[in-house]
Amino acid sequence: MERFTGSFTQQEPIPEAGIEAAMAVLRHGRLHRYNTAPGEVAETALLEEEFAAYTGAKYCLGLASGGAAMACAMRALQVRPGDPVLSNAFTLAPVPGSIASLGARPVFVEVTEDLTIDLAHLEAQAKATGARVLLLSHMRGHVCDMDALMALCDRLGLRVIEDCAHTMGASWRGVASGRHGAIGCYSTQTYKHMNSGEGGFLVTDDAELAARAVLLSGSYMLFSRHLAAPGPEVFESLKLDVPNVSSRMDNLRAAILRPQIGILDDRRARWRALYQAMEAGLAGVAGVRLIPRPQHEDYMGSSFQFLLPGWEAARVVSFLAGAAARGVELKWFGADTPQGFTSRYAHWRYAAPEVLEQTDRVLAGLIDMRLPLTFMPDDVAQIARIIGKEVVTAAAGAVAPVAAPLAD
Ligand SMILES: *Cc1c(COP(=O)(O)O)cnc(C)c1O
Repeated sequence: MERFTGSFTQQEPIPEAGIEAAMAVLRHGRLHRYNTAPGEVAETALLEEEFAAYTGAKYCLGLASGGAAMACAMRALQVRPGDPVLSNAFTLAPVPGSIASLGARPVFVEVTEDLTIDLAHLEAQAKATGARVLLLSHMRGHVCDMDALMALCDRLGLRVIEDCAHTMGASWRGVASGRHGAIGCYSTQTYKHMNSGEGGFLVTDDAELAARAVLLSGSYMLFSRHLAAPGPEVFESLKLDVPNVSSRMDNLRAAILRPQIGILDDRRARWRALYQAMEAGLAGVAGVRLIPRPQHEDYMGSSFQFLLPGWEAARVVSFLAGAAARGVELKWFGADTPQGFTSRYAHWRYAAPEVLEQTDRVLAGLIDMRLPLTFMPDDVAQIARIIGKEVVTAAAGAVAPVAAPLAD
């Protein structure tokens, strides 16, 4: 019986140029972004300028994490304690967590079988709550019809913050992900598309939002040292009113990240090859529903999802156990208790309880896996063969009572 022996969590090393640049920062010791020698431009400021150019945004700000970027974006939009903020019900814990960090109220919107936000439910939730802001999570890289979404949000008077933790480097109809809404947020945490351990960005074309974000990140009165921020005149009326919510990027992470911008497009092509190998390997497996990828979506493919529609929990558990025994670590969004990185909206008890039947039905059969770039297409083909066999076995087998949930 085939067994997979690779690691689903092993990313590629940092490019040599990043290691060298990081060593230079460590040797001179000026890690804080505003600690510069006369005439020196900080790595962080250069990174922001380069990431702004990559996305085509006017302004870019480096931050301590993707979660910090989302919270900063909401503060820049002046979300107040108690305000409702709409977000997808299918997302990762830091998304509702960032809303809760402002004392605001997460309001969840149903997900469709294509794993994107349900626009009809979005409209209903916006009208029911009077929310002004949508924190749209492009969860696992699945992008909704951005033209329809933006038209709807414009009509509803909703400002959109895009959570691009899984879409850095992706685009919709040729427009970079993060450039449709008022603000785009990105993460550079190890499991995303550029790796600095922790880190994040936000981008915007709005000068006032950018100035607020820079001040919020903790710029003191040193904002003129930014290269991808508006001019000092925009800061003048804001600098004494906007609080310092210290959450800056530092020069060490920036040094590690700068050489990774130039290889994002190449990474997208390599991820796409892995994704398509998995798609080909699972096509035609009875009981498996693959997620369709819209023609206008240029996706990253760094993770893969499929549905086992209508499967009872015990059967999913037995499938996961069978795959795990053969070295294939899959995650399931339907488990009763959250495990590892995987929790779902009903587990976030700080949010007002809501029952979203459509989302529950989708997540009950949703299987998820990472496709790190340390995999080769042959690895992916082997994983797909194992999944295909285990799906067939679990579909045919008798089902035991639901056992203890699997470890992540
Ligand atoms: C990782 C992640 C974030 C937050 O990123 P951090 O840098 O870890 O704070 C936000 N949204 C989604 C969907 C994520 O997966």
